[in-house]
Amino acid sequence: MLEDPLQPRRLDEASAAEIGEAIYSLACELYPICRSITGRGVRETLEILSRRIDLTRHEVPTGTALFDWTAPKEWTIRDAWIKDASGRNVLDFAASNLHVMSYSAPLHARMSLDELKKHVVTLPEQPDLIPYRTSYYAERSAFCMAHSELSALSEGEYEALIDSELADGSLSYGEHVHRGRTDQEFLLSAHICHPSLANDNCSGLALLALIARALKERETRYSYRFLFAPGTIGALAWLAANEDRLSRIAHGLVVSCVGDGGGPTYKRSRRGDAFIDRAMVHVLAHTGLKPTILDFSPYGYDERQFCSPGFDLPVGLFQRSAFGTFPEYHTSADNLDFIRPMHLQASYRMIMDAIDIVEANWTPRNLSPKGEPQLGRRGLYAAVGGDKTGVAGMMAMLWVLNLADGEHCLLNMAERSGMAFREIEKAARLLREHGLLADA
Ligand code: ZN
Repeated sequence: MLEDPLQPRRLDEASAAEIGEAIYSLACELYPICRSITGRGVRETLEILSRRIDLTRHEVPTGTALFDWTAPKEWTIRDAWIKDASGRNVLDFAASNLHVMSYSAPLHARMSLDELKKHVVTLPEQPDLIPYRTSYYAERSAFCMAHSELSALSEGEYEALIDSELADGSLSYGEHVHRGRTDQEFLLSAHICHPSLANDNCSGLALLALIARALKERETRYSYRFLFAPGTIGALAWLAANEDRLSRIAHGLVVSCVGDGGGPTYKRSRRGDAFIDRAMVHVLAHTGLKPTILDFSPYGYDERQFCSPGFDLPVGLFQRSAFGTFPEYHTSADNLDFIRPMHLQASYRMIMDAIDIVEANWTPRNLSPKGEPQLGRRGLYAAVGGDKTGVAGMMAMLWVLNLADGEHCLLNMAERSGMAFREIEKAARLLREHGLLADA
């Protein structure tokens, strides 16, 4: 028997439900932390991830040039509140870390209600939700609050405090590498800079950590590099540190918002027809769900950096609901009730299926190409006879034999036949065992 490259994945199958629960429970652990692009929250998050997987942590000093950008100051947030004239808290950072605009400059002042309103961001359209807002590259002091709560405040004097600090320090990111047989790499990246938002991106961080852990048990052809970095600036820091090694990136996925029941959504790399683009389109088409496939656009997550023209890496974006399209997006409603173990498990499966394609793809050549080889004589016809899986298996063999002219890889064959890659791969393995196929 030839080695089945998908075998370890199949062994996983029994514990699929457990995987969904394990991803969810890690997301729950990450959820309460107040993250931003720099600071303690990012380090705490990396610390939690490093209990699950080996993580190399990098610190990039404030002021380091990163292409057209500079590593920013480190943000520390200790406390924030607004008190009314009677000393009653009308906003408390301890209740939700979304209450402070991420990267907010310090503030301590007494002010009128009108003045206070200039420092508060709300969502009038979703009056009961706290918005998530950032102010990374323009210094600002602001709170975020439910519109209904702001509207309920009466005239009078308020005392507002944001006990934060912006000081020289460093930008932190983490990296995990699973070494394969070759140094060609599959990059998997998730942003680590959002505070208590479950789908965006505790879901992505937890999912990638569990994929990294699963790959540990598996011998792979590709090396797998996992990047946990703050959005934009973290990706730029990693690109700057690895510029001379980027030709090794053969495939890549940015992963965010993978815990809700929407989508699935795949946004193609800038190249549009990279192998990962085709693999993800194929996987999503066979989920039984209604996938949305988007062409590349220069807006979104860190695929913007990886796919900038100076790099143009084959990196796409995988999500369930596309960012910005669900009402919970960037609000306090993106909480732990919004993500579910079953959806995380399904998202995990989709990425693992893409990994299986990348791992098991090859280009065969039919060694008996003149007419169809006689399958019955070789015992390859036996499964047929009313049995549907047998018929599918035979169709897969016929497709593989027909397309095995040395020009078609297994993914090509899956695309052309409309059959799942797994069926095609299984048929090709069987045919090779019977001496009918060889490497092209
Ligand atoms: Zn976001």
